[in-house]
Amino acid sequence: MTEKKNYAGIDYFRLIAAMLIVAIHTSPLASFSDIGDFMFTRIIARVAVPFFFMASGFFLISRYTYNAERLCAFIKKTAVIYGVAILIYIPINIYNDYFKTDNLLPNIIKDIVFDGTLYHLWYLPASIMGAVIAWYLVKKAGCRIAFLITFALYIIGLFGDSYYGISESVSCINGFYNLIFQVSDYTRNGIFFAPIFFVFGGYISDNQNRPALKKSVTGFILCFALMFGEALVLHHLNLQRHDSMYVFLLPSVYFLFNILLHIKGKSHKELRRVSLIVYIIHPFMIVAVRLFAKLLHLENLFIENSLIHYISVCFTSVVFGIIITVLRRRLKPEQAKHMIAAERAYLEIDLSNLKHNVGVLKKAMPNNCELMAVVKAEAYGHGAYEIATHINKIGVKAFAVATIDEGIRLRNYGITGEILILGYTAPERAKELYKYDLMQTLIDYDYSILLNNQGYKVKAHIKIDTGMHRLGFDKENAESIAAVFSLKNIKVCGMFTHLCAADSTDEKDVCFTDIQIESFYKLLKTLKEKGIAIPKIHIQSSYGFLNYPELNCDYIRAGVALYGVLSSPNDKTKLQLDLRPVLSLKSRVILLRQIKKGDCVGYSRSFVAERDSRIAILSIGYADGYPRILSCGKSYVLMGGHRAPVVGKICMDLLAVDVTDCPDVTVGSIATLIGKDGREEISAPMVAENSESITNELLSRMGRR
Ligand SMILES: *Cc1c(COP(=O)(O)O)cnc(C)c1O
Repeated sequence: MTEKKNYAGIDYFRLIAAMLIVAIHTSPLASFSDIGDFMFTRIIARVAVPFFFMASGFFLISRYTYNAERLCAFIKKTAVIYGVAILIYIPINIYNDYFKTDNLLPNIIKDIVFDGTLYHLWYLPASIMGAVIAWYLVKKAGCRIAFLITFALYIIGLFGDSYYGISESVSCINGFYNLIFQVSDYTRNGIFFAPIFFVFGGYISDNQNRPALKKSVTGFILCFALMFGEALVLHHLNLQRHDSMYVFLLPSVYFLFNILLHIKGKSHKELRRVSLIVYIIHPFMIVAVRLFAKLLHLENLFIENSLIHYISVCFTSVVFGIIITVLRRRLKPEQAKHMIAAERAYLEIDLSNLKHNVGVLKKAMPNNCELMAVVKAEAYGHGAYEIATHINKIGVKAFAVATIDEGIRLRNYGITGEILILGYTAPERAKELYKYDLMQTLIDYDYSILLNNQGYKVKAHIKIDTGMHRLGFDKENAESIAAVFSLKNIKVCGMFTHLCAADSTDEKDVCFTDIQIESFYKLLKTLKEKGIAIPKIHIQSSYGFLNYPELNCDYIRAGVALYGVLSSPNDKTKLQLDLRPVLSLKSRVILLRQIKKGDCVGYSRSFVAERDSRIAILSIGYADGYPRILSCGKSYVLMGGHRAPVVGKICMDLLAVDVTDCPDVTVGSIATLIGKDGREEISAPMVAENSESITNELLSRMGRR
């Protein structure tokens, strides 16, 4: 259901970063220039590991995750890789007399938890620790607080790393660092170093308003230059205990990552795998290259020349990575395609159209008016999680739902900003309104009193009935409305009314609507005269806005327009906006059959073929939200850009279409029930009208199936 974006730039850079890590461990320029080697391996190459952390954070950390599934999967995967790597390197550890050290057990524990059982393996436990810390901080406290905390950790880390010379000279601080160094050889670890990069990654993925390419490149060049200066000064002053952590490393990697995000294209899973293998295996290749050189007496070429040494290690590691990846593919063919084929019926949500609609609506709205996205009923069947998180990321900060449970769910998804419950909430649930910071609609005076008496401070919007006669205070009842403002536990944040005929351009309806609007403003005036400070106000839903755009309120409650459709296909609105449908409904052919003239199809034999026909059975039915009333030729689906009429009665989970006139239909072919296929399009309002309903009902009934 998600918009597939492929981050080719990140995948390509993974391989480069892996080479940089090999450089750190082989010092390619050592035999030519000391300072050159320092610049290459201790400054330039230092972006590699933070980049990997950030990439993991980008795909893993988000305010919007609502269970720890992905985190657990990441921990498990990393732990398995770490376990395998530990085993692989036992021979080298034996060769290095690792198992002969004193205090073996405490050392092993320390190495497994922080330092890695071979020098480069620290990265894996640090990934796990950094991910866990960042995940919980971002989820519980949001990106900003998480950034502040992990930044503080990073500062502590800095003074045990590149800036150690400063803290070393202050004795009480030095004691603190000595304590740290008993547990972990460096502060460049999973607590002080990794978390902030994970948080950054999460922040970048949550915040869709990213810096443009030009800004990212400028930012990177500037910060990278500053980091160079910083590192050289520290090096010159001899302050460094270790040289992984610089202040300007943070913005440098941030901008670098943003640059890479601009490089779009096919994502390369293989590249990811090869770079991981290069990272894991290169110390082995260092040993192998040395052994090979000794055996052939080519030491001065392959060992003494540091650049050739580096290139040979990279080359052998990459070749090894490619061989393993190819072997793996032979043994384990991709399964993704089968998974897609297994979907019987599905909704496709076009998030770029959603973003487009948000932009179009915002542009058409008055300046100080805010978009309140109505996401009740699973965002009109589109999926509340997908829709709400996406528009929250692009800056929508007000939401409306129908029930308290929908509101709580949004909070659990990580949605920030205001959430207004448009419907009734039992007063006994006031505590939850308070706890989840939800705003409740006050539907009349008695209800307001009950809610107030629960003893929890509750934010609320007063609803005014201006003629719909559904929910709300009577517009004439200024006394009781004014009284609500002085209730101790109710904080009135807004006042609104709902128009009941705003979709109509019929003269009488317009007249009625004008009276509704007028009486709302008249009430506001009366309240103002009573000395009440008027809170934020709102009147318009989608049609209210499209037909009465001249009103100037604080919010527009947009539902159906946000999803890019009208309620009925032939509605004419005063304001014509370029809104694009977000949802498509698709299904698959699971069976094809040839029938003879006179054969019937489906329940109650309601379809009898007038010619020899080819019938396709689709795995979708009315339990999936496709209305049964569309049976027997009342609608059609699109197959390869051709229309295929629905024949017979629609069943609960299946339906039949006539594909005699559609070429190239096979088992597995996709049928579009709502959406575009080639030059043909079936819009949701058309389907809704055919089923004697409106788009709102049709979409909100799309089941969870
Ligand atoms: C559902 C609802 C909306 C949104 O209506 P659309 O026509 O889909 O924009 C607005 N206000 C109230 C009170 C609602 O119940």
